[in-house]
Amino acid sequence: MTLNTLLKITFENAKLKGIWHYSLPSGHSCPGAKTCFTKADRVTGKITDLQTPDADGVIYRCYAAMDEARRPNVRAVRWDNFDLLKSKKSTAEKTKLIVESVKAVGLIRGGTLRVHIGGDYYSQSYFNAWMKAASYFPNVVFYSYTKSIKFLLEYIAAHGGLPSNFVFTCSKGGKYDNLIPQTMVKSAKVFFSMDEANALGLEIDHTDDLAISGSDDFALVIHGSQPAGSEASKALSANKKKGFTGYTATTNV
Ligand code: SF4
Repeated sequence: MTLNTLLKITFENAKLKGIWHYSLPSGHSCPGAKTCFTKADRVTGKITDLQTPDADGVIYRCYAAMDEARRPNVRAVRWDNFDLLKSKKSTAEKTKLIVESVKAVGLIRGGTLRVHIGGDYYSQSYFNAWMKAASYFPNVVFYSYTKSIKFLLEYIAAHGGLPSNFVFTCSKGGKYDNLIPQTMVKSAKVFFSMDEANALGLEIDHTDDLAISGSDDFALVIHGSQPAGSEASKALSANKKKGFTGYTATTNV
């Protein structure tokens, strides 16, 4: 394979120190998105808000989609990855593409790879391909947040568990929240304030440490750019006054 036929896997950003990451187009690849459902147009970057409120009336824009809206190069890379994957029809073909792409960045020697800052598991075949690919890299820790709980649950039911080097966090606020308890996998929820998270006794993850190494449910605090006048935007302003200025880079939850 030549380089332009591989998925683009990138090292680090301002939040994810020492971590490799890879993404798909936010919203476009997210069958479980609900409270966060946001898409940036592939060509223009224009944002479409498709959020549906949860029981508490909470909605917010996906930070990763906003990143795509602002940065054409980020959008291009994510769509290239999506196109490449969709050209591979079978799970075996997708697995081969993923394995070759991970090998190409030297991760075979070990490291940590976050699967999706933007985007999510868009099909069962794609989900299964990542699980199979992980078995070729016992020295790598893979991790994901996901709202594609139905694919996660289906895999766990069929295989009796997850690969030992693939760590998941179920991201709440999706279409399949009702299936989360059956997965027995930890979950994370976005809160509008640190006080709300603290009141529930949930630790707040600022670095992905809890996503990678934790085993308990945890919290994330609203961040990114939210529509003017929205509850999410008001929450951002209130948090800023209290000194929380948000994360310094993208997270897709
Ligand atoms: S927050 Fe995650 S699931 Fe929701 S639209 Fe963004 S990438 Fe997709």
